Amino acid sequence: MAIVGRPNVGKSTLFNRLARRRIAVVDDEPGVTRDRLYAMARPAGARFHLIDTGGLDPDNAHAFFVGMREQARMAVEEADVILHITDAKDGLHADDRFVAQMLRESQKPVILVANKAEGRQGADQLTEFYSLGVENVFALSAAHGIGVGDVVDRILELLPPELREESERRAYAEDDAPKGRAARRAAKQAAEALAPPPEANPDRSDEVHLPAQLRVAVVGRPNAGKSSLVNAILGQPRLMVSDIAGTTRDAVDTLVTRGDKSYVFVDTAGLRRKRSVARKLEKFSVVAAVRALEEAHVVCLVLDGFEGVTEQDEKIAELANNAGKALIIVVNKWDLVVDAAKRKKEYTDRVHQEMGFVAYAPVIFVSALRNEVEGVLNTVDDVANHHFRRVGTSKLNKAFEKAQESHHLPSDRGRRITLYYATQVAIGPPTIVVACNQPDGVHLSYQRYLQNKLRDAFGFSGTPLKLIFRKRGEQMGKRGHSHKKRRPPTRRD
Ligand code: GDP
Repeated sequence: MAIVGRPNVGKSTLFNRLARRRIAVVDDEPGVTRDRLYAMARPAGARFHLIDTGGLDPDNAHAFFVGMREQARMAVEEADVILHITDAKDGLHADDRFVAQMLRESQKPVILVANKAEGRQGADQLTEFYSLGVENVFALSAAHGIGVGDVVDRILELLPPELREESERRAYAEDDAPKGRAARRAAKQAAEALAPPPEANPDRSDEVHLPAQLRVAVVGRPNAGKSSLVNAILGQPRLMVSDIAGTTRDAVDTLVTRGDKSYVFVDTAGLRRKRSVARKLEKFSVVAAVRALEEAHVVCLVLDGFEGVTEQDEKIAELANNAGKALIIVVNKWDLVVDAAKRKKEYTDRVHQEMGFVAYAPVIFVSALRNEVEGVLNTVDDVANHHFRRVGTSKLNKAFEKAQESHHLPSDRGRRITLYYATQVAIGPPTIVVACNQPDGVHLSYQRYLQNKLRDAFGFSGTPLKLIFRKRGEQMGKRGHSHKKRRPPTRRD
């Protein structure tokens, strides 16, 4: 479910009320719309995904309109139901019409709500909202929690049946914490009975939400061949290449279109220019690498195939991993290697051995010099599909059950640890919350074991995978111990 509306109508308030607590998985999407918030909405008895499509800058008229269009587009693309929120106190606004018009074109179910409708003052204004051509206007007060229940009921009515079932099952599994063994079994059976068969609708239970433009950073040591690689990639046939302003000052990004897909190579100005000017000895800069990878979804770490993995390469890989970015190891200058075909496996093993913490990253072999770089964009597509993938809850739980069956969780100081339920709460990177009885007692080795089992089951090639353990019954959004880095929720509206 996505929330859309002009600024100041109370989007954030409603978002927070539905999510109860913001898990604020901020998905940076540089461009007009800065970020998107994903959360689990947790009204009584239901759970569904909530997207806040981003803030708008009302002071910049152009950015504002582009932003609204973008907001609506994202909502339409990603959500099954769209909530268009307006302000009952202010009354109908021209921008509301603008938003309504765009949403109407989408043909997705839209619910119109008039917020700030506490007291009589609001109720009088409601009739004019019907001129937006809707059947029903829901009056509500997000701040006071009035009328939210009716809106939630309507959302559930409009959700596709399989999502509605998932919503109930999820709520059941979280809320009704049965005590005894028999009760637990009953709960499990009920949850299973509610679960749609996994093959019933694979598209629905397993989704990939790609950003409109995949942002790619090419990083690596000086002389690894980054510059040559970028030029070779951009020089491939059937690509449209153009320069666009980068997100940071003075940066120039390169927009590449291939078929119906767009990629942005971040901050490529330096790399592309380098060829034409006298080559200076470049100093290795971790800061530059960090800046580039922070702005990217997918990081291509370029290694010099003739030299192997150095400490600096390890450092960058570690940074990419910690930042939760998808990662590809691109081994360049493969033309220099004798018996190249035979050496690939040996080299891959060495990379995985020396950088075990990113063993998930695919290793590909290229030669920028010979323009043998076709594999790069395909691999970018491939890892992005894993990075932005949401695995259906029932599939996920089956994998968890299997993992537990084949290797029981070691008990922690005599107390048996039980994992109850897992849900993927975020994409890019996939982030999975596991409800268990002792979140602190799950040893690192077992966490790794689970990660490996999940990778066996679902691939997740090229992307880090985050597991967060929480006590059952605790809010999914509650701050946990295993979360490394989290941005403070930003107030936007
Ligand atoms: P950067 O500093 O990482 O951007 O590296 P450059 O692109 O400037 O390349 C460094 C050197 O490696 C240059 O002399 C390139 O000609 C050479 N080079 C780049 N790619 C290849 C390749 O695929 N094969 C070979 N043999 N040399 C390459």
